[in-house]
Amino acid sequence: PGSERPRATLVDDEEGGVLFFSTPSSEYGRSTLERQKQRLPVYKYRDAILYLVENNPTTIIVGETGSGKTTQIPQYLKEAGWAEGDRVIACTQPRRLSVQSVAARVAEEMGVKLGDEVGYTIRFEDQTNPGTTKIKFLTDGVLLREMMDDPLLTNYSVIMVDEAHERSISTDMLLGLLKKIQRRRPELRLIISSATIEAKSMSNFFQIRKKNRRQEVKDDPGSLKPPAILSVEGKGFPVEIYYLEEPASDYLQSAVSTVLSINDEEPAGDILVFLTGQDDIEAAVQLLADGARDIRGHSSGLLVLPLYSGLPRADQDLVFAPTPKGKRKVIISTNIAETSLTLEGVVYVVDCGFSKQRFYNPISDIESLVVAPISKASARQRTGRAGRVRPGKCFRLYTEEYFVKELPSEGIPEMQRSNLVSCVIQLKALGIDNILGFDWLASPPPEAMVRALEVLYSLGILDEDAKLTSPTGFQVAEIPLEPMIAKMILSADAFGCSEEIITVAAVLSVQSIWVNIRGTQKELDEVKLWFAAAEGDHVSFLNVYKGFLNSGKSSQWCYKNFINYHAMKKVVDVREQLSRLIKRLGIVLKSCERDTQTLRKAVLAGFFAHASCLEEYSQNGMYKTIRSSQEVYIHPSSVLFRVNPKWVIYHSLVSTDKHYMRNVIAIDPSWLTEAAPHFYQLRMPNPALF
Ligand code: ADP
Ligand code: MG
Repeated sequence: PGSERPRATLVDDEEGGVLFFSTPSSEYGRSTLERQKQRLPVYKYRDAILYLVENNPTTIIVGETGSGKTTQIPQYLKEAGWAEGDRVIACTQPRRLSVQSVAARVAEEMGVKLGDEVGYTIRFEDQTNPGTTKIKFLTDGVLLREMMDDPLLTNYSVIMVDEAHERSISTDMLLGLLKKIQRRRPELRLIISSATIEAKSMSNFFQIRKKNRRQEVKDDPGSLKPPAILSVEGKGFPVEIYYLEEPASDYLQSAVSTVLSINDEEPAGDILVFLTGQDDIEAAVQLLADGARDIRGHSSGLLVLPLYSGLPRADQDLVFAPTPKGKRKVIISTNIAETSLTLEGVVYVVDCGFSKQRFYNPISDIESLVVAPISKASARQRTGRAGRVRPGKCFRLYTEEYFVKELPSEGIPEMQRSNLVSCVIQLKALGIDNILGFDWLASPPPEAMVRALEVLYSLGILDEDAKLTSPTGFQVAEIPLEPMIAKMILSADAFGCSEEIITVAAVLSVQSIWVNIRGTQKELDEVKLWFAAAEGDHVSFLNVYKGFLNSGKSSQWCYKNFINYHAMKKVVDVREQLSRLIKRLGIVLKSCERDTQTLRKAVLAGFFAHASCLEEYSQNGMYKTIRSSQEVYIHPSSVLFRVNPKWVIYHSLVSTDKHYMRNVIAIDPSWLTEAAPHFYQLRMPNPALF
């Protein structure tokens, strides 16, 4: 309406004493943004928040998704002077994509260039300027890494640990460590914020000293003060919930048909669909594109957009851009849209009831990402996403009975269902020696801890007293990759193949270099054959990388070869950073010139614990892991799928109907005892095999 129009303002030009009209175009956008900010629920609490932060070491802020916690509170803090001088305000997120997205939003709201006053840091990507950045968004994992250089995090005046209800492994570690830091830096302010939180248990955690540390309590009464708790009243609208009468046999199909019927029957409003990961999201996008076309032969007005971490920047922007007139946006997302990102305009939610979750079994030593039922708490969050702008509807693709009886009320903290190898090494590097005695928000299972210590010991990262070895242990801790990859990189020095190994490490650190679109499997398999090396995936990666460089890093070349161009650009970038890092660690870049045996031995030096052997009379390619005799199979995406060499090393396991080994190379079993005699002597099922 009229009042929203930019108004010409009279500006008094002091120098010339002349009056002139000014309507800078950016001013229009800025004042709208300003009004939007003031309409957010947290705005009413601005002074209260600032007062609490001023007067309490720790403040817990609970408020529903979209109330403005993440984007507004850091700005309030800055306005109140917390970033004066060389001090910086930090805000952590469990996910990389949300770090980038909220940082971009805050920069836009403040009218500054991203990377200057407002910046972000995620692994392998630093968009900050040490001289000018005042508000810094970063993953909780990156903040943990910063502690290695600056144990008291002296750069920061306030640290906001956001999305604490997610209970990511890094968030849990961070909270324990920050509590310790606060004892030494009483002036440091912590804000713990989340959408739903057991504020009480979090508050108890910050109040109660571990019993055996009574002594320290007396020294420092300040931080004994219980945290302040503030609850931001939301303004969510009611959401009607619909269940299926019969369980769905295929949630993907069921999600697609639900979207199409919403589009046919319900009034305007965007649709948010929760699926589990990139694969099923891309599949749904494809099916919807097909389905929407053949209904009546003309466009249905659906604008179907995927949302998952690893999505290229331009595609992320589409998700947040306003819905074009006459269109209906359908965003198909992982649980990243559950609480971390706010999507405007969503009126309908379709919830498949599952998410990808990490599970670790310390007995079998298998950590896998599994599609598993979400918790009731998650289901409620997902439902809430439909009520942001007006009353909405949520379609749950499961029965009501299933919801009531089968879904657990809360999720299990990631700490209690993860492999702890990285966690242990990071704590060790920070000088926490008694890890079981650490101040945990939720204790990790002792079996998992023992397993982690065992692996780190066998890799030569910890010594007999469970201390980091020098130099290997300390070097591994410096490399921001899984310890096994780090060990592989360090070993490449002795094997003289560091050039190749950092390429392999870079490829393993991106999600997938192949473009996987439903219905193109055959073509993809054919293309893969050109790059396939008989030795396995890691060697094939080198062929792809070389092809990419020879093409002049061409996107067309990638398109022709079913290779993900963005992933390859990332590989080049990560590789560059790794090469700088290892030079700093004193490793000289050296190539083994196609000597793939040397290369595989270097991989094995990090991954010997991931060895498996093809079962003697197996018809269906069944392997057993050497370590725990688990049944495993080569993943269909591997170039060794159906080749089935007798002995292999895998990078990771994914579990769907079976445990699949992803990224596999063929090895000679004698290399295992050569590389890790201490590990294999005890464990070989049948020593006669050697
Ligand atoms: P919270 O952290 O409490 O969930 P946020 O601070 O993330 O809330 O979001 C507050 C509001 O800012 C949202 O309701 C939305 O209107 C707006 N917003 C946040 N991120 C974006 C974005 N990337 N693009 C457009 N608007 C955004
Ligand atoms: Mg938030």
